[in-house]
Amino acid sequence: MIVTRFAPSPTGHLHLGHAHSALVGWHRARAVSGRFLLRIEDIDPARCRPEYDVAILEDLAWLGLDWAGPIRRQSDHLSDYEAALGRLRGLGLLYPCFCSRKDIAAAVNAPHGPEGPVYPGTCRGLPAQIAVTRQERGEPYALRLDVAKAQMMTGPLTFTDERQGVVEARPETLGDVVLARRDAAASYHLCVTLDDHLQGVTLVTRGIDLFHATHIHRLLQAILDLNVPTYAHHLLLTNAAGERLSKRDGAMALRALRQAGRSAAEVRALAGFPGQVPEARTDT
Ligand code: GLU
Repeated sequence: MIVTRFAPSPTGHLHLGHAHSALVGWHRARAVSGRFLLRIEDIDPARCRPEYDVAILEDLAWLGLDWAGPIRRQSDHLSDYEAALGRLRGLGLLYPCFCSRKDIAAAVNAPHGPEGPVYPGTCRGLPAQIAVTRQERGEPYALRLDVAKAQMMTGPLTFTDERQGVVEARPETLGDVVLARRDAAASYHLCVTLDDHLQGVTLVTRGIDLFHATHIHRLLQAILDLNVPTYAHHLLLTNAAGERLSKRDGAMALRALRQAGRSAAEVRALAGFPGQVPEARTDT
């Protein structure tokens, strides 16, 4: 059975780009009597707010979408992420990094990746004794994945993207990503990969902006023995200026459109899905 999901972060109101993503996943499941799940990615307490969580559910329901089973909220499952971090630590694949964002941007040898400067590995070779002393002194640190070491364990990996076919995973292009921070129990990469497995997701439908992240997720799947879903990275909706929609395009927020008198059908059409929402199939 096809299981898809929509996994917004409650850091703001849903906009048309989110609606597009949600509708892609919902239609794919609905077309084959599969399951469409909802997950609230609220792992980062500094950025997430409960009122956005409530608003997301309201907006999706208004749009005509429904989802199967209970909603998974990441903040309810911290022990799952801790257990995964424990496994990675046990395999010697995590190391503490004391660098600030500024340090990384300023590093002369920082290579440039698809999403900006790639962490140059400054703390990777830090002697354990020094790392422990700095941690004990209370210096803030993040835990990073030693990607090269992980790749040595897994060997070459691939994943399937519906538009691009079989893709060779190249997690090294994002560098040693952060998997946990002082102020957030675990990072997006770890949580999303684990959650898709735990929720039994078979088809991950999400924007092409997360294509590079998938390479890291594939590596984590191999290390943590997780299921490997198929991916459908969809193109992003753009605004009139041809730029991808973001939370800054306030007028494109679903609730702003609703308040301006647009119907749900009109908003679905603006989000790339004209026509009626199909009824659930009962023939299979
Ligand atoms: N929570 C992520 C976001 O809002 C999406 C994660 C995903 O679809 O994999 O951008």
